[in-house]
Amino acid sequence: MVTIPAHIAAILEQVFDPEVPVLSILDLGIVRSVEDRDGQLKIIITPTYSGCPAMQTIATMIRLELSTHGFQHIIIEEQLSPAWTTDWMTESGKRKLQEYGIAPPQYSTKNNPTNYLEVVVPCPQCSSSHTELISQFGSTSCKALYRCLDCKEPFDYFKCH
Ligand SMILES: [Zn+2]
Repeated sequence: MVTIPAHIAAILEQVFDPEVPVLSILDLGIVRSVEDRDGQLKIIITPTYSGCPAMQTIATMIRLELSTHGFQHIIIEEQLSPAWTTDWMTESGKRKLQEYGIAPPQYSTKNNPTNYLEVVVPCPQCSSSHTELISQFGSTSCKALYRCLDCKEPFDYFKCH
């Protein structure tokens, strides 16, 4: 469990994932720790996958948001191990994903079926579980493309990993 000082959490809640703009970095669970020593901040973040080009953007956005709230001394470090997993995504983050039209991860990494045929992904539009996989890779490699057999709409599924 990650504890972030409430006054900092309120600010970081306003920093959004550039790839899924409805998710804050706290929803994603990439902020691993925040230390506030008399206004000097040390923030540790774990990228959603290593070499993620969005991380540089996210670090810059964190600095900008904190500096508009008066924080000038900010150290941001990346921690690659343990690797980020979709298990770190918050429940409210999963709800926001669904409202955005992306099916959130349906399993934890511990009980995620290895055979994709056993994976049941409900449609984010109509909640039907009558859906089929179209492609293992959707708009980004962390998503798969599905189609709902009831409302016929295609949608992205944020895969467990
Ligand atoms: Zn549907």
